[in-house]
Amino acid sequence: MGQISLPKKGMAREDVLNTLKSFKSDDLKWHDGQLFGLIYETGTDLEELIKEANTLFLIENGLNPTAFPSLVKMETEVVSMVTNLSGGGEEAVGNLTTGGTESIFMALKAARDWAREKYPKIKQPEMVVPVSAHPAWNKAAHYLGIKIVMTPIREDFRADVTAMEAAITKNTIILGATAVTYPHGMVDPVEKIGALAQKRSLWLHVDACLGGLMLPFLRHLGQDIPAYDFGIPGVMSLSADIHKYAYTPKGVSAVLYRNRDLRKFQIYAYADWPGGVYATPCLAGGRPGGMIAAAWAVFHYLGEEGFVALAQKAKAATDNLIAGINAIPQLYVLGRPNATVFAFTSNAINIYELAVKMADCGWHIEAQQLPPSLHMTVSPVHLAVAEKFLDDLQRVVPQVPRADTSDLSEQAAMYAMLSTMPDRRMAKDFAVEYINNLYRIS
Ligand SMILES: *Cc1c(COP(=O)(O)O)cnc(C)c1O
Repeated sequence: MGQISLPKKGMAREDVLNTLKSFKSDDLKWHDGQLFGLIYETGTDLEELIKEANTLFLIENGLNPTAFPSLVKMETEVVSMVTNLSGGGEEAVGNLTTGGTESIFMALKAARDWAREKYPKIKQPEMVVPVSAHPAWNKAAHYLGIKIVMTPIREDFRADVTAMEAAITKNTIILGATAVTYPHGMVDPVEKIGALAQKRSLWLHVDACLGGLMLPFLRHLGQDIPAYDFGIPGVMSLSADIHKYAYTPKGVSAVLYRNRDLRKFQIYAYADWPGGVYATPCLAGGRPGGMIAAAWAVFHYLGEEGFVALAQKAKAATDNLIAGINAIPQLYVLGRPNATVFAFTSNAINIYELAVKMADCGWHIEAQQLPPSLHMTVSPVHLAVAEKFLDDLQRVVPQVPRADTSDLSEQAAMYAMLSTMPDRRMAKDFAVEYINNLYRIS
């Protein structure tokens, strides 16, 4: 414990860079598709273009739109292209944010403030969201003072609309749906949820953070993709992450609204500051120009054909992986995922121990819970390594302890314990303590 102080003398430039490079030695290796999550890798030269585009606008600040009109132009063009891909009409508008969490946050903030005007009698607003929704919803609800009511999902891992309807109270203002859920890779029945939202005059936000830049291209390839976007009349807002299946580094996502009258509720302005009249579209104040340029560069470099070709690779990799996993007798994939994200599990072996064994082979797979499973977000780069992954999987499965054994590695045992803890508050306290301990000099 303690602090470190600023070095008295600066380091040589070379030493700074070499030291930074050395820090990477403990990080997960991702470049050749070792990760199934966190990083969305194409395995092409796209990365070089993104770096150059980012560098061109690295220093420019998106805070003041009159200082750098280039950033406003690029942002509105990227947003317009995402809007087009999401069935938004002439009236639809949006902004770029720093990520899916901020996009969801802004949409729910807009919805809350819309409801304050539309339903002034509601003092304790609620929203109804399926349990498969991303924790960004819970986080935003927590920050924004909205009560979140979580409803169960069906056996096919999609939202249960009957349960959602039953959860609506006189305080409900928002319904939530996800187009490609993170845990299981499903598109919720958004059409039905949209009809319910219309019937009850509620705001429906569709979280297409994961699917927004994959589903349109899978549809283009002839795949049967259920409706999920602004084509459904009840959809008021939609989030789509660019830093996922548009392959940019972290720091850019789109939040879209059916029209400007709805987006108005997103914008914050303060007119009485001695520093001037202050107004921002989203949560961030100063905003990095580089990520806006990176997004613009990817959209123009790939074009529709490029996106479709990458989607085809990621889908082919997904199909190979799903078929290979289902062919291993001890394993099976959960439900029938719609896109390039899925989960698999086992009734026979301890799935967390399988993740540990696969990590020993260099594969990083995230562990999930309720029910226990392993998460796979598949990228275009995985097409080249799917076979190797399946070979390793087939080889290690027989070495994994049975599901009911106590003979687990520490890591697997920890996960098993946390995921089966009946009192979820203990798991929550554990997580807070973990984070609180992590970010300090030790
Ligand atoms: C990734 C994701 C989010 C959150 O996005 P961040 O960019 O991590 O903030 C929200 N919803 C879904 C479905 C996601 O996959």
